Amino acid sequence: MDTKVRFKLDAHFRQKALSEFDVDWQLLHYAWEVGEVLGEPVKVVGPHLITLTPKVSGVYHPVMVNPFTLSEWHRQAEKLWLDMYRVAEGYDLPTANLFSCTTKFGRCEFWDACHVLDRDEEKMGTVYQRKRLQEYKGGSSAIQRAD
Ligand code: SF4
Repeated sequence: MDTKVRFKLDAHFRQKALSEFDVDWQLLHYAWEVGEVLGEPVKVVGPHLITLTPKVSGVYHPVMVNPFTLSEWHRQAEKLWLDMYRVAEGYDLPTANLFSCTTKFGRCEFWDACHVLDRDEEKMGTVYQRKRLQEYKGGSSAIQRAD
């Protein structure tokens, strides 16, 4: 179970919000990892979704998982991890993940870099500030918006 908090969630959007967890990368990762560590398959995962307004309420949404789903998640994850390794080690350039540029939380903070400034590092200096990796503690990138 993973606790998620939303400030507000209208009643008629609740079921849609819960169903978004039916196939959720993070939850599948938890299920796979727990299965690996404990040596027994995880059969159910799910969010405990807490809504803060108009009054605090919570709901647990169980999601059944099976070995096939977890195995497919792991195969997909291994491909992604290999890509990440290849980029980190300089064997490859990062690939734009265009399907994550806009989400229900809004635009990715690097929208301007990818969609306006053509990922040109010189142009990006007009909007972003480069930081040394050691100075950057908020995430995996060394570039932050200047504003
Ligand atoms: S805008 Fe964000 S999510 Fe989209 S390709 Fe650029 S870095 Fe990736």
